[in-house]
Amino acid sequence: MAALLLLLSVCLLAGGVFLKDLFTAQTGDEYPTITDWKRSYQAEAEIAQALEQLQQSPDKASVISRGSSAQQQLALTFDGLADRGTMQRILDLLAKYQVKATFFVDGLQTAEDPQTVINIKTAGQRVENYTLYGMGKMEKLPVERLIKDFSQAQKIISITTGQGPNLLKCNDTQYTDQLLQAAKAAGFKSVVSSEFYLNATQITSFAAAEAFVGTLRPGSIVAVKLLRNAEPVINEQGLAAGAPAVDKQPGLKALPALTDQPETALIAAVERFLIVLNKADYATVYVEDFYQHNGAGTAKITPAVSGPAKIAALIRAQVAELFGSRTAYAAAATGDNQAREIKTIFTTEPAIAYTFGGLANETAVADVLGRLKELDIKATFFVAEPEMQKHPVVLRQIIADGHEIGIAIRPKNGETAAETGSTIRRNRQALQEQFGVETNLVKQPWGAVTAAAREAVASLECRLIGQAVNVVQSKHQDYTSADQVMAEIFGRSVHSLARGQIVHFRMDYYTNDKLIGDLAAIIKQRKVDNIAYATAFDNPASNPANDSQYRIKPVGEILSHTQLLYQYPVDPAAVPAHVSADRPGLRVDEANVLPEVFKRYIGNKDVAYGKSTLGFSKMEARRLDNSGLIHTGDNVVFLTFDDWGTDAAINKILYVLRKHKATATFFILTNNVLHNPNLLRAIAAEGHNIGNHSDQHKPMAARDPKTAGQVILQDKQEYSQELALAYKKLQAVTGDMARHSQPLLTRFFRPPTLAISKAGVEAVFAAGSEYIVSGSCSTNDYKAESVPQLVNIIKDGIYTKNGEVKKGSVVVMHMTDSAAYTAMALDILLTANEAKADADPSKFKVGRLADYLTEGYSQINRRQTLQLTAPAGQNI
Ligand SMILES: [Zn+2]
Repeated sequence: MAALLLLLSVCLLAGGVFLKDLFTAQTGDEYPTITDWKRSYQAEAEIAQALEQLQQSPDKASVISRGSSAQQQLALTFDGLADRGTMQRILDLLAKYQVKATFFVDGLQTAEDPQTVINIKTAGQRVENYTLYGMGKMEKLPVERLIKDFSQAQKIISITTGQGPNLLKCNDTQYTDQLLQAAKAAGFKSVVSSEFYLNATQITSFAAAEAFVGTLRPGSIVAVKLLRNAEPVINEQGLAAGAPAVDKQPGLKALPALTDQPETALIAAVERFLIVLNKADYATVYVEDFYQHNGAGTAKITPAVSGPAKIAALIRAQVAELFGSRTAYAAAATGDNQAREIKTIFTTEPAIAYTFGGLANETAVADVLGRLKELDIKATFFVAEPEMQKHPVVLRQIIADGHEIGIAIRPKNGETAAETGSTIRRNRQALQEQFGVETNLVKQPWGAVTAAAREAVASLECRLIGQAVNVVQSKHQDYTSADQVMAEIFGRSVHSLARGQIVHFRMDYYTNDKLIGDLAAIIKQRKVDNIAYATAFDNPASNPANDSQYRIKPVGEILSHTQLLYQYPVDPAAVPAHVSADRPGLRVDEANVLPEVFKRYIGNKDVAYGKSTLGFSKMEARRLDNSGLIHTGDNVVFLTFDDWGTDAAINKILYVLRKHKATATFFILTNNVLHNPNLLRAIAAEGHNIGNHSDQHKPMAARDPKTAGQVILQDKQEYSQELALAYKKLQAVTGDMARHSQPLLTRFFRPPTLAISKAGVEAVFAAGSEYIVSGSCSTNDYKAESVPQLVNIIKDGIYTKNGEVKKGSVVVMHMTDSAAYTAMALDILLTANEAKADADPSKFKVGRLADYLTEGYSQINRRQTLQLTAPAGQNI
């Protein structure tokens, strides 16, 4: 068993090499950013399973190329992803004309911009799989390669949307038998081909749209290929389907081969098409609705489940293959000689970095410097060698203003690591000798970052700096107002930036010299300052002790605060055994589930027989705890926060708790957590407990609206796997964190919606959770209408009618952005509580669940647990 676990972890660690090998072997190209996302989306098990499935069955996926012609309907697909602003405009159009569409999204862009894909799903449209990066001519690839590609893409999209696509589409590819077998083995029931493509450059008038619609027939599948974001730096160069990255130089403004505002032309063409489609009385359906017409049946597709031993054997074989190969081994051994591009710094520091580049437009630079001074921002400026020579006065001014300097490089095609290295060395020397500046920061602001460049940066012990947000994009060149740019860069759903993110501004691109300065100021105001806790009675401007404001700092300064940096994912070896994900869960089956659940379930008064206790008999349900109180003699209440949110929501809660020296328990919904591990880490860094709230928020029992009865949404095994995945994510970010040598990650589980079922409870224990904690007070804070209303709800939850503390109350709140009043309500309650005398029976202290739910705690043994009190040193 131990050997198996070791092998598995070796396999996971080797994931990077595995993927790198997979991409480099076939194409000879480098996809150097893979290291950034592969950690979050390990698909080795799925790949192994699909490979095994392929050996067992030669079944092929069916091909959907059209649907029934009996009705005036057709299916519309969008293939690939454009930038978020364009995608939002497309979604708005579809809503406006009430059109259904199927979006085939590729794995890499989904990993890069998950929010866009979430937006598609939220808008009610279908999301399906467009392979890992929409590569063309895939029929030429070996079958194993296809399976790796499909499975990896499927993993990324499933994690992002919470459900696996059923359909696959390959870009410009012939569907050979081999490809169809690979698709089937990877879990797809069908692959899709389109008869018709909408060509935006041709649909320039209604007449043209009408002519195009005239060629369609009922049952047609019409595809729109989306333009890739033409900005290579943001788009992960080289990954675009059939569209080579456009390599841009600073100062070089006229770019060939880019149509004027291609996105605008596309949107206009799509709108004309939709209008004409409506006029022609075509209804639109999802491609999946055409499935039945292809005679392939309606069975729900689930990947074949095979024995864990078989999967392990396959993984072992893969690992052996990997390390048996000389090149792979060399790559693994020397994996560290390639600098990782830092886009978000893994830190818990409440800081964001601004970086700037492009000195050619001295007016714009001067304006930026003035703005930064006004805003009291210190930033990092990346300077290229010719700029040092051409603009020394400007550079001296930047340095004099106290900003940090880094080196901008642009390796030539085919340049070796040694050549790039000597450029960097020369630039460092020039900066030192002529400007008195030392730096180890290097940025390649445009073009593909090659392996040679990474190697050069690493060999000189420099850091390679990328960005999480690229403010200046090619298509915005003539935009005149910051509002125009903001809408396209952030869309509606991005409430705030996140701690550790690097935001890059290019100063030599806009026609409007003041636009970069405007953007630097507006991004701070709208996406950074709004993260701070700012109320009438406590805000960073009036209260110097209010430290809730995120600071904008140079990259190097954030990187120098090493005590706040961390390794992500956390090294499994650093995780204490008690909270290790490898530790087997409680052995609970139908025979002994009852004693355990009576002992380990802290319930809720609304969870009652016939409503949300599926599988428990009436007698059993009666014995389940419904008090929601932790048994204790202390005047203690437990604050708990569920789900997940942005920095803007969670930072406010963290500040209020810190201000009142209170520690709480955060039950994390994990499906989006790995997009912002810094924030989760920051919660634990303040001493709060971390608990599991599942990965997908599927309740253990739900009400079937048809029968009004309760149903389960996942079987026991599926549910247990989901919870284990959620726990692994929590461990990957917080597994090594402890306070007073007590781990902050806990084995506590909060049921989504608080509903429970017998099978669900068994799955919870099997997945390693030890206590199920609902609570005594459901605040419904996400729908509170005002602060006073919420304060009263919480008061009712923690005080008896006589005004005494309800000992052991567990208050259920949320950390979502919708829970807008939660932080302020708590601030008010905790401030009032602090003002009370210690002997006042209505004075409570705030506890963490881990201090009370210690080993041996039993919800049915009151006498034993009444003696438990908080350990010494606990605050309040
Ligand atoms: Zn929840």
